Amino acid sequence: MVRRIIKSEIRKNYLFNKYVIITPGRTSRPRDIKEETVIKRTSVCPFCSENSHKKNIIDQIDTNGKWNVECINNIFPAVTLHNDQAYGQQEVIIETKHHSKELANLDAGHIENVLRMYARRTKVISQNKNIDYVLCFKNQGSKAGASIVHAHSQVFATKVLPPDIQEEIALVQAYQTKHGSCVYCDILKKELKTSRKIYEDKFIAAIAPYASEYHYEAWIFTKRHLDNITLLNAQEFKSFAKVYKLILNKLHALDLSFNGFLHQVVSNRKQHFYMKIQPRASVWAGVELGSGMVINSMSPEEAAAYYRTK
Ligand SMILES: [Zn+2]
Ligand SMILES: [Zn+2]
Repeated sequence: MVRRIIKSEIRKNYLFNKYVIITPGRTSRPRDIKEETVIKRTSVCPFCSENSHKKNIIDQIDTNGKWNVECINNIFPAVTLHNDQAYGQQEVIIETKHHSKELANLDAGHIENVLRMYARRTKVISQNKNIDYVLCFKNQGSKAGASIVHAHSQVFATKVLPPDIQEEIALVQAYQTKHGSCVYCDILKKELKTSRKIYEDKFIAAIAPYASEYHYEAWIFTKRHLDNITLLNAQEFKSFAKVYKLILNKLHALDLSFNGFLHQVVSNRKQHFYMKIQPRASVWAGVELGSGMVINSMSPEEAAAYYRTK
């Protein structure tokens, strides 16, 4: 049974001092402004094989002797290993050779290779002692900030641990000290018994978070308490790809732009690795920017029910 939210409800984030107002029914508000999610091809695609430079290739994962996931240097990086003022590393993961295929169009085995490339790059980059943070993320669609249509992810690594991540690490640690357990392991145990559960098998679980900030927001966790993607075993990679594909297919059917990213900290055993998928159906406006409180007209209970439909 899906618990339908009839009246608006203010909900607090599991960890952060952040609030969301879940307001079902607002999706049917009248709209005059039409949205455009299509990115038009205007110039030569830098991610198509014929246009990429061999010297830029960093890593490849092959199937049947041909690469199907490739990692290259980001040729317009904001941070580099040669700049002490903005030290870091940026790479692009090309998810398929095919210019017009979306990640959702690829089979689960191919999506698993994309995840394995996240793991490979995290492992290599984190060996640099001057790097403290490795973010693997994907922007899909123009509303999520994607500028090139060819399916790709990005790796962004920096010397500085970003403040939001520091705060999350501290909150997870504080919970551990107080309760003697991992907050995300506890959240999972609880949420998998509610109508916010999206998927569960022996290795992986996905939920729509209680205080979702975005329509159809989904989080994917390993059931084992691991701090980063490099530690996943073969079964976990396989299940992870399976549920990620399920979510991608559902977002594709709605033609929603989304951002997807890993929360991971290399070598901090107290932290729990997970992936956040945040679709960009709504645009944050005055309330969100002015008050910091987010209005979300799609309850996570409804979102999870959508993901669970066959
Ligand atoms: Zn292309
Ligand atoms: Zn945990």
